[in-house]
Amino acid sequence: MSTSTESFNTSASDLLGLQCSSCLTSYNNDEEYKNHYKSEFHKYNILRKMVQLAVVSKVQFEKHLLETKKVVKPIIDVKPTYHCEICSKKFKTDAMLKNHNTSKRHLERLSEIEHMEEMKYSELQKQNFLKKKEDIP
Ligand SMILES: [Zn+2]
Ligand SMILES: [Zn+2]
Repeated sequence: MSTSTESFNTSASDLLGLQCSSCLTSYNNDEEYKNHYKSEFHKYNILRKMVQLAVVSKVQFEKHLLETKKVVKPIIDVKPTYHCEICSKKFKTDAMLKNHNTSKRHLERLSEIEHMEEMKYSELQKQNFLKKKEDIP
């Protein structure tokens, strides 16, 4: 019956409460302790310890979260961008893209591409013509 006493001893130690030495907090059960370990609050304190800053309390951490949220939000708002696929260029406004579409550089590229397409087309026609010729017995 030695095994049962051993298991009793371990569960008894659990009842004493679990402590996180990084955050200086204690937890009543394993579940709470595990949840704490996965929490942003715990990760934040670990990071603070790494840069040798004082550990913060949960209240201070929540305050910090509210402050950072204010800063982070405007960065998330991404303005739509306009881009020219031919030149692989990005523009901030529709007007800038339209202006680019009439620019010399863009038109040059455009005519180059059109020329290339024409070449491809005539090449295909040539091939077809040759094929037809070969087909003739
Ligand atoms: Zn912790
Ligand atoms: Zn362009």
